[in-house]
Amino acid sequence: MTEPTPAIADIDALRHRHAEASERPTRIHVDLDALSHNLRALRAHAGVPVMGIVKANAYGHGLVPVALHLQAQGAEYMGVAFLEEGIALRQAGVQVPILVMGGIFGPQVALFIVHNLDITVSSLDKLRQVERAAEALGRKATIHLKIDTGMERIGVHSYHAGAFIEAAVASPWCVVKGVYSHLACADDPASPMTALQLERFLDACAHFDRIGAPMPLRHLANSGGVLHFPETHLDMVRPGIALYGVLPDPASQPTVDLEPALSLVSQVVYFKVVEAGHPVSYGATWTPQCDTRVVTIPIGYGDGYPRSLSSRGEVLIRGYRHPIVGRICMDQFMVDLGPQGTAYNEDDVVLIGRQGDAEIRCEAVAQAAGTIPYEILVGLNDRIPREYRGADTAQT
Ligand SMILES: *Cc1c(COP(=O)(O)O)cnc(C)c1O
Repeated sequence: MTEPTPAIADIDALRHRHAEASERPTRIHVDLDALSHNLRALRAHAGVPVMGIVKANAYGHGLVPVALHLQAQGAEYMGVAFLEEGIALRQAGVQVPILVMGGIFGPQVALFIVHNLDITVSSLDKLRQVERAAEALGRKATIHLKIDTGMERIGVHSYHAGAFIEAAVASPWCVVKGVYSHLACADDPASPMTALQLERFLDACAHFDRIGAPMPLRHLANSGGVLHFPETHLDMVRPGIALYGVLPDPASQPTVDLEPALSLVSQVVYFKVVEAGHPVSYGATWTPQCDTRVVTIPIGYGDGYPRSLSSRGEVLIRGYRHPIVGRICMDQFMVDLGPQGTAYNEDDVVLIGRQGDAEIRCEAVAQAAGTIPYEILVGLNDRIPREYRGADTAQT
């Protein structure tokens, strides 16, 4: 389809339209119904409240629209990595409790308190910082104590947790709302590490009983824990990738029926025949043996589509799988249709998702790129417009 050249009178309207919506043919479609389905399925499986993990732009799905949708669907809690993500959610109208899971820096603490964000306290020293900021503001801080049970990232080692828990419980300026830890190997159902971490965590939690303090919310399970280790569900679960319908380890068996929420689509922008012996793209790394039909797709590593998919990835066009050939460029890449393949300019191209009966899953893209599905999803950046479909669809 070619649009006629606009008359002068239409130009203002056109400019206005461009300001409202991207006309870029490359898009991310987020299926809000799939998110609702996954939230329901995970909650039913775990039988406890869900903290929806929406860090890193909701795993590439769009921080604010996803969080507002999950809140509307009854997610009890939100989890993010950084202060800025928590503030963005509050400013967008998220009212459920929000836990910022990353380590904190002293100067930030007052902002946590004024934005009503739950703080991760991961050492005695950090506890003192939070107390000082809370006292200065004259407002109590809501905190979750982070126990390290084997990740060696942040948190007080479980074998030193006693004094830490006592100090937090005794603090007049801190409300201990939660206690948590993070699982290092829960994506692997066979790993003995998870049982060990659970045992260490429960040992640490026992200090609350020992000193006669009320037990706060105990939470431990990431997606792997939710899917594969029911005994880690405790009082709340913290699924991230599973909420988006993707398995933490593509090799594991799904225990919950999940639907991928994200698809990545584009359109053919150029068609040509490449003659035998003429190499394609930077570095001339791929050369056809016979004349072949090649199309160009307007997305590249500048959008977060990994360059490691060069001559390794696949796309769907007209319901068929076709290989990416040559190096992926910053803004474009080429696909070989073969000598007989057909495609026209503006044909839809699916990079992640379904087309007819064919499907390319994020897990397969990750495998071809030599990475994990997490990195594929969070890598898709803001140059790609996102469209939200499904329940009470608000285009954002
Ligand atoms: C990212 C994160 C999660 C979610 O992990 P998934 O594997 O995506 O489910 C849970 N808890 C913490 C502390 C995290 O950092």
